[in-house]
Amino acid sequence: MDRVSNKPQDSLYDVAVMAAIRHPLTYRFPPSWTVATGQRVLVPLATRKATGIVLGPTSKLAPGIEVREALRTLDPEPALSPELVRLGLWISDYYLAPPGEVFRAMLPLRQETRRARQVHLTEEGRRKLQELAAGPPEESNTSQDAALLAYLDRRPGASFEILQRKFPDAYARALDEKWVTVEEVKKERSRRQVFAVRLAGPLPEHPPRLSPVAKRIMEALEQQGPAEDHRPLLESARAQLASLRKLGQKGLIELSESGWQGAHSVLRERDAPETAGGTPAPRLTPAQSAVLADLFPRLDSGGFGVVLLHGITGSGKTEIYLHLIARCLERGRSALMLVPEIALTPAMQSLFYSRFGDEVALLHSGLTERERDDAWWRVRHGQARVVLGTRSAVFAPLANLGTVIVDEEHDSSYKQDETPRYHGRDVAVVRAQYAGALALLGSATPSLESYWNAQEGKYHLAKLEERIAGRKLASVEVVDMRQEFRETHTQMPLSRKLEEEIEAQLRASAQTMLLLNRRGYSWFLLCRSCGQTQRCVNCSVSLTYHRREHRLSCHYCGYSTAVPSHCPACGSEYLQYVGEGTEKIEHKFAELFPGARVARLDRDVARRRGEFLRVLDEFRRGKIDILVGTQLIAKGHDFPGVTLVGVLSADIGLGLPDFRAAERTFQLVTQVAGRAGRGEAPGRVLVQTFYPEHYAIRLAADQNYSGFFSKEMGFRRMMHYPPLTALANIVAQHEKLERAAQVAKEMGDFFTKVEAQFPGIKILGPGPAPLAKVERRYRIQFLLKSNSRANLHALLKQLVHHATQSAIQPREIMIDVDPVNIM
Ligand SMILES: [Zn+2]
Ligand SMILES: [Zn+2]
Repeated sequence: MDRVSNKPQDSLYDVAVMAAIRHPLTYRFPPSWTVATGQRVLVPLATRKATGIVLGPTSKLAPGIEVREALRTLDPEPALSPELVRLGLWISDYYLAPPGEVFRAMLPLRQETRRARQVHLTEEGRRKLQELAAGPPEESNTSQDAALLAYLDRRPGASFEILQRKFPDAYARALDEKWVTVEEVKKERSRRQVFAVRLAGPLPEHPPRLSPVAKRIMEALEQQGPAEDHRPLLESARAQLASLRKLGQKGLIELSESGWQGAHSVLRERDAPETAGGTPAPRLTPAQSAVLADLFPRLDSGGFGVVLLHGITGSGKTEIYLHLIARCLERGRSALMLVPEIALTPAMQSLFYSRFGDEVALLHSGLTERERDDAWWRVRHGQARVVLGTRSAVFAPLANLGTVIVDEEHDSSYKQDETPRYHGRDVAVVRAQYAGALALLGSATPSLESYWNAQEGKYHLAKLEERIAGRKLASVEVVDMRQEFRETHTQMPLSRKLEEEIEAQLRASAQTMLLLNRRGYSWFLLCRSCGQTQRCVNCSVSLTYHRREHRLSCHYCGYSTAVPSHCPACGSEYLQYVGEGTEKIEHKFAELFPGARVARLDRDVARRRGEFLRVLDEFRRGKIDILVGTQLIAKGHDFPGVTLVGVLSADIGLGLPDFRAAERTFQLVTQVAGRAGRGEAPGRVLVQTFYPEHYAIRLAADQNYSGFFSKEMGFRRMMHYPPLTALANIVAQHEKLERAAQVAKEMGDFFTKVEAQFPGIKILGPGPAPLAKVERRYRIQFLLKSNSRANLHALLKQLVHHATQSAIQPREIMIDVDPVNIM
């Protein structure tokens, strides 16, 4: 461990403060403290206190800088090992992210104290309130001001966050005009429970009589959607926890201690089966044995290496992972396995528990703070040596790491879409490198990046080319929907061929899976008089209609609104729902195939506690005949009874302005096809498309990965896209269009100035991002392509430096290195 001696002259340390600050700050530590790299400390920051990670003694300090004294250490031992500190600094450097924000993402630990900013009316504010109350109602600005001031008058000390959310513009004005003051208070963290709250379902037609308090709660939930934390909800509804509990007992709302983070919220440590581990592994196929014979010496050598395991769907990759982990434990080393968000199913967990028992710790975003805390420290103290988790588990504090496994390494959920924008798979490889461990990336449809690395000899390639137990890959047939339309002249989402096949399945009591990668009921609501669609107030996208809630909602920011009876633009009542989502297909199929048991699986279902698991379980047990779903059903599941898979529209996504569109389509179709025929009976796949000749569709139908790889690499080479080119997406973003434009101009000028120094870099932009507005922020985009990663990095470093010089805040400029999505 990097114990740093505490001689008085050594008492200046660099600290990565957990805030949006681009560089570490220097603090003075009292000579009596023992401080080590990786230790959490509490430090003063402007007028508040913040947590930071000690990086090490300060080597040089610019003259004239005032150094403040650190307040205290937060843990008796360093939370992060030097290896993880090094990894964090690599991420900060590579992804150009503020170091403190990286460490915050790495350390899911609870804060000792919570600072709260409470807002009060000033004398000035009271006068303004009276003045506004006396005068006639004027323009909307004034009425917003009045609403804010009246709110504060009723609720002195309301939290800054709530005001900012409720009255974004008025709040900024109130601060400027000094109508309000903000007071910083320290709240000792309470051990009180936090509940997530949501409506139990659509409101019944004749709702029971409710008290005014209960009504306010229901209204708040209606308007704001589910709450992850019950406390702001209580505050805004002026209610007590008891009222929530009462509504829960009446079955009108649901309370959960673990949140609605999706399916995994129910997958908790305490749900772990009782098994103590040590369940014997099934017999390996010769192909599996051969792969392990290749992997074990690499593991035993104790050096770093990366292996890409390209195994077709159903070829038994999981068994390879489990054997590798068992081998690690035998050698006294630890193991880390990452799975995509949704692949962390109970089946996967019980497999881990049955083999490794108490050695297993789960780390994922669906855990409560406390569960995560417990699991984290269990790993930190060496009590659990096998970690199974989603993206951020790549930071699990395992010592003596033997292997890092990334299952479904092509999955885009490994890329974090907020700062720090790291890619879990790529960080896993760097982590393995620092630990001298074996990185194993597994997929049936490897990312182009990984396969390219294997071809270039950077990664070792291992293959599983046959399904276990001699099962055949499903046969795939493409249905040309243009032909279908020419012959039937109807816009049915279901071809006659697929309909016949489903009927045959039902007669044979066999199961069918249908993929439609679009959730909701209808894509949008169109006015037939003026052609307007209902759009999100925060984002430049159409709202999707959800029938269960009978609301329009935004899939980017979560905004939702009631369905208007008339077009808000022209007043016409001719509003039409356009397009089919999974919810509509589920309804249609229930009508089309009476008697069939139809269920749906998508993110909307996954949000409902237990529902996701129930559907998975019932489908596995053959209690559902037809399962309709989005890409969620394509990922990693093993349903032995499925013999027919239909892809309703393979084209969704092909038209998006994203260079990965073909790759995504290929992966999705191949993966979902891989769900068919995993049991005794062979499987069939029907792929409906309007572009039957598109290579992504054709090659996925042939399940021809190498064919797709060479074709797609040709396109990437020609267009200068990854993996042959390093890419960065830079977005100037602000709630005010003028400011976004100003930041973009500042950056554009900078690029023009330095362009000559970086001849191999192409700078595209500025232009409006494909999503020109998201979550109220206008977005102006630059795309940087470089034939040299080192040059691109050097340019971005200069850009960040320039941004700091020009007072551009970190949140005003988004830098996404190796973007997965350039929308
Ligand atoms: Zn209209
Ligand atoms: Zn939105």
